[in-house]
Amino acid sequence: MKAAVINQWKQFDIQEVPEPVLEKDEVLIRIAYTGICKSDISIFLGAHPIAKTPITPGHEFSGYVEKINSDDKVPFAVGDKVAGHITLPCGHCDACIDGHPNCCRNLKVLGTQTAGTFSQYVKLPVSKVYKLPDDADLRKFALAEPLAVAMYATQEVGLRVSETVAIIGGGPIGLCCGLIARNAGASKIVIFEVNPDRAREIRKNFGFEVLDPTKSGAQEEAMAMTDGLGFQRIYETSGSEPGFRMVTELGRVRAHGVIIGITKEPAPLDTWKMMHEEMRLTTIRVHQQYAYGAALELVKSGKLDRELELMITDEFDLDQIQEAFEFCLKDTKHNKVLIKS
Ligand SMILES: [Zn+2]
Ligand SMILES: [Zn+2]
Repeated sequence: MKAAVINQWKQFDIQEVPEPVLEKDEVLIRIAYTGICKSDISIFLGAHPIAKTPITPGHEFSGYVEKINSDDKVPFAVGDKVAGHITLPCGHCDACIDGHPNCCRNLKVLGTQTAGTFSQYVKLPVSKVYKLPDDADLRKFALAEPLAVAMYATQEVGLRVSETVAIIGGGPIGLCCGLIARNAGASKIVIFEVNPDRAREIRKNFGFEVLDPTKSGAQEEAMAMTDGLGFQRIYETSGSEPGFRMVTELGRVRAHGVIIGITKEPAPLDTWKMMHEEMRLTTIRVHQQYAYGAALELVKSGKLDRELELMITDEFDLDQIQEAFEFCLKDTKHNKVLIKS
């Protein structure tokens, strides 16, 4: 089969590789679409802390069942449209046993420690594969994975109807957080984004309030939206030091923040304010599988059809993957870029 392989950083080679061999209770999936994620870009650049060459990245995908190797009754058949969950936990470590397989001590993630979906086929355990409706738009279902990050973050931060939300960072994950928070009934949502092209798009296409955090008075303007009280749920998706500072600065009494972005250096937090206002902070690692299931249901519901269509700004064929990644690195206007296998 054809796969996009990184043999040396910053260079994809389209090459023939052996088709995955199915073990018991595994499914072979013919890939339709894969979204390019920030983590794929960091693998491409050689900046990812775990990935090693040679590697085929890719994990935000949808496709068709090609082959099933199981004696059990499974909820899909050959030819069905499917999507799949990306973490492969060991099942026997303490984290797995305690019900936190996303924190597995031997965790493998599709496209990081195993062959990913910038290829023609991928294999997954039966338990990781979800049947989609026959009329599913597979382009949109490739976006269920980043939506699942936002879904899990929203579940973990405990967002309730009518609460106020601040989102730091307006990349695809920040935008997904906005879409999920709005769908969950947040009363006010403000997104902080430094890239003016991105800010304009989010405002125009998705109707969010967007502020540039580097402009003086931006934070005051945001606080005024909450009558100076601060925000109840705060999502940090920028992975930047100023972003982490804002988590505590923007918080209302008893605010709950969730850390999604990753900083390389330990990040500063105003622990004094946190303690005096009983602020809480949660982190998330990838997402739990139930959040992925919930994200798929939301895509199926059609409630985000318009937004998902707008999020997909560019599409490239697998053969053009080098061009696609170079485009992502230089273009400031794109949102989700899809690779068609
Ligand atoms: Zn991703
Ligand atoms: Zn484990």
